[in-house]
Amino acid sequence: MSVFTKIIEGEIPCYKVAEDQHHIAFLDINPNAKGHTLVVPKKEVNKVFDLEKEAYHNLMDFSYRVAKALEKSVACKRVGLSVIGLEVPHVHVHLVPLNNMKDIQFTDKVALTKDEFIALAARISSEFK
Ligand code: AMP
Repeated sequence: MSVFTKIIEGEIPCYKVAEDQHHIAFLDINPNAKGHTLVVPKKEVNKVFDLEKEAYHNLMDFSYRVAKALEKSVACKRVGLSVIGLEVPHVHVHLVPLNNMKDIQFTDKVALTKDEFIALAARISSEFK
C-alpha cells in the first residue's frame, strides 16, 4: 500500500486542499515552494501513463481546478505542473507555485510550520470550486 493510499484511507494525516469521489489534493510535506500541492487519484496506480485515458483526463481536470485555486491564494508568477513519481509509486501531479526556475527543480525546499501548512491548506481550499 502506498503512502498516498494510507492518506486516502485516513491512516496517516495530510493537509487536505480538495477532494472528490476519485481524487484528493493535499500539500506536499517537503515543498519546493509555498503552496506546492499534490493531486492524487484515489485508485492506486503506479505510473501516470498507466492510467486509463478517462482517468488521466479526469486527473488533469481536477488538477486544473486545484491550480485555479492556487493562483487565487498563493502569490506567484504562475503555477507549474510536473509528474515524476520516482519516490512514491502512486500517480500524483505536482502543482507548484513558481516565482523562478529553481521552484520546479526539486532541489531547494522551503520549511513551513504546522500552523503555516494548516493556514495555507485552508486558504487554497476556500478558493477551490
Ligand atoms: P515523486 O514520487 O518523486 O514525485 O515525489 C513524491 C513527493 O511526495 C515528494 O515531493 C514528497 O515530498 C511528497 N510526499 C511524500 N510523502 C508525503 C506525505 N506523507 N505527505 C505529503 N507529501 C508527501
